[in-house]
Amino acid sequence: MVSVSDKIISGKKITVLGAAKSGIAVASLLKKGGALVFVSDSAPADKLQPQMQVLQSLGIEFEINGHTERAIDADYIVVSPGVPSNIQIVKDAEEKNIKVVSELEIASRICESPIIAVTGTNGKTTTTTLIGKIMESAKAKHIVAGNIGTAFSSCIDALDSQTVAVLEVSSFQLDHCETFHPKVSVILNITPDHLDRYDHNFDKYIASKCRIFVNQTKTDYLIYNYDDEETREQVRRLASLHVQTLAFGIDRRFDEGAFVENGKLVTIVGSKRTEVIDIPNLGIRGIHNIYNSMAATLATQVIGIDLLSVGRALKEFKGVEHRLEFVREFNGVKYINDSKATNVDSVWYALQAYEEPLVVLIGGRDKGNDYPKLYDLVKKHVKAIIAIGESAEKVYQEFHSIKKCIKADSMERAVDAARQLAVPGDIVLLSPACASFDWFQNYEHRGKVFKQLVNAL
Ligand code: ADP
Repeated sequence: MVSVSDKIISGKKITVLGAAKSGIAVASLLKKGGALVFVSDSAPADKLQPQMQVLQSLGIEFEINGHTERAIDADYIVVSPGVPSNIQIVKDAEEKNIKVVSELEIASRICESPIIAVTGTNGKTTTTTLIGKIMESAKAKHIVAGNIGTAFSSCIDALDSQTVAVLEVSSFQLDHCETFHPKVSVILNITPDHLDRYDHNFDKYIASKCRIFVNQTKTDYLIYNYDDEETREQVRRLASLHVQTLAFGIDRRFDEGAFVENGKLVTIVGSKRTEVIDIPNLGIRGIHNIYNSMAATLATQVIGIDLLSVGRALKEFKGVEHRLEFVREFNGVKYINDSKATNVDSVWYALQAYEEPLVVLIGGRDKGNDYPKLYDLVKKHVKAIIAIGESAEKVYQEFHSIKKCIKADSMERAVDAARQLAVPGDIVLLSPACASFDWFQNYEHRGKVFKQLVNAL
């Protein structure tokens, strides 16, 4: 059990913005630490029933339906990851010189455990989960939390200095961090995404990702993707002098880091060279998953996890639901659910993960997608595209001159069209490159509907 007493908490007036999972968890943690907590959320009562009950039972005051002046009558403000930093109430607080910090900042200040933190535009959940599996395989005490579904703040009671906190951290959680200091940080890649929350400024998004390593020192490790130009450049500029860096990349041989040699995943840490696993034995497929596996291997090796445990987990881990998830084979056609592919970059990796001809479902709520990046791979691997969602017309216009393209006005019709086009040996792949909020509640809902329809064929 960790003491939550901290001079930035006890006796302070603190407003938590956002009453979703992380907001409620951090509010409860702050209350335990002796703060005068107030929670403010913009949603109406019918969306917040369970949260309101929890807050009432904890004796925490709150407001709904919007943020009033009361929200900034505070010593400082804690923003939940779901709350954009560019909303008016945050700007008002900053104007009044009221400090704004993130849930991650609060939880990590209180946490005594060493932290492994994973960020990147794509691959965070897969890599964080895999690190958790390696820890499990080694029977090492750990928790897995953060952006992955369990709020870090809700785990604090379970932590001690012997337990490793494995955290998935998004750029939103890194925004407003001051003292966040992981023992091991991982940057998988940095490509344009979520720019609507960064005033459409890629540099701001990059700066946010780099906050993961700013407080690290020479006794800490930063593990990063050397093949990703943006990541490599930022690490070279900002990190290499104050933290130990370990690079990973497919075709290069690093003095220290991870790479592929003679079909094996090889690492060099300190002066120790380890042949970790034959690439075909990895449980997850695609180049992106070789990167994720290299990152997870290095992150656990530097904290002393043994090779046997690492190798076992790399072999047994079959990936996370909605990420290149095998659904079923029907009439010789394999169906794959990659509903979590909500940007062009993740679709790029999905398209190169398969040798078989692909019928791909693309579309949804468009985020300003740059589809020409996919043209080469579409020409090479794709047999047909089914354009779906509210951006079906845009997808059709972008692809129909280079590939057979059909518009579908429901997921049911899309799956049906894909079934008609695919022949034995083909793959039908849902990898939409878009957010899901046009037809669905979220990407999980989209993936589940796709799977239900496929399973009903
Ligand atoms: P995140 O948590 O960062 O969104 P996920 O592991 O949930 O990442 O994967 C999101 C999407 O990106 C999936 O479609 C997945 O197949 C793809 N993906 C996973 N790892 C990578 C990677 N290293 N680079 C690019 N795409 C990836």
